[in-house]
Amino acid sequence: MNILLFGKPGAGKGTQAPKLAESLGAATLATGDVLRSAVREGTPLGRKAKEFMDRGDLVPDDVILGVVGEALARPEYARGAVLDGVVRTVPQAEGMHRVLKASGRTLDAVVYFDIDNDHIVERLSGRTVCEKCQTPYTGRNAGEACDKCGGTLVRRKDDEPDAIRNRLKVYEA
Ligand code: AMP
Repeated sequence: MNILLFGKPGAGKGTQAPKLAESLGAATLATGDVLRSAVREGTPLGRKAKEFMDRGDLVPDDVILGVVGEALARPEYARGAVLDGVVRTVPQAEGMHRVLKASGRTLDAVVYFDIDNDHIVERLSGRTVCEKCQTPYTGRNAGEACDKCGGTLVRRKDDEPDAIRNRLKVYEA
C-alpha cells in the first residue's frame, strides 16, 4: 500500500508516518529526513540542499523527484511507502505520477492534515528532533536523550520563528 501524507510543516505528518507504516508493513519515506541526513554527511545532495533548507525554502523539484525515485527502488519499500513531506509543488505532483509508475506503484490514499497556523507556530517552537533517528518530540528539551535510540535531541535550524513564518508562506504558495 502506498500512502501520501499532505499538510503544513508541523501538522504531525512526521509523528503519524512511522505509526501508519508499521501498521501497514510499509516503510516511511520522509524527504526532509533524507535531506537532513545528506546535509549531515556532507554529500553532494546535502551540499546542494543546505542553503534552501536553512532558510525554510523548497529544494528544487528535480532534486526531490530524484531522491524519491532512487529511494522507491530500494527493497525496504517493496511492501509499500508512506510518503511524508512530498509532494509540495504542482511539478512534484505531476512528476510523482511518473516516479510511481516507474516503480510499478499506484497511490492508494492521500491523507490531508488540516491544522491552523497558530497551532503550527506553537508546535514547531517547542519541537526537538533526534539528531540520529529524526524522531520528533513536542515538549522535550534539546540535549535530552531520544526514547527510541538514545540519540541527542536537537532544535532544527528551520524551527526558529523567521524560518517557520517563511515555511508557512512557502506552503501556502
Ligand atoms: P520537512 O522535514 O518535511 O519539514 O522538510 C524540511 C525541509 O526540507 C523543507 O523546508 C525543505 O527545505 C526541504 N524539503 C523536504 N521535502 C521537500 C520537498 N518535497 N520539496 C522541496 N523541499 C523539500
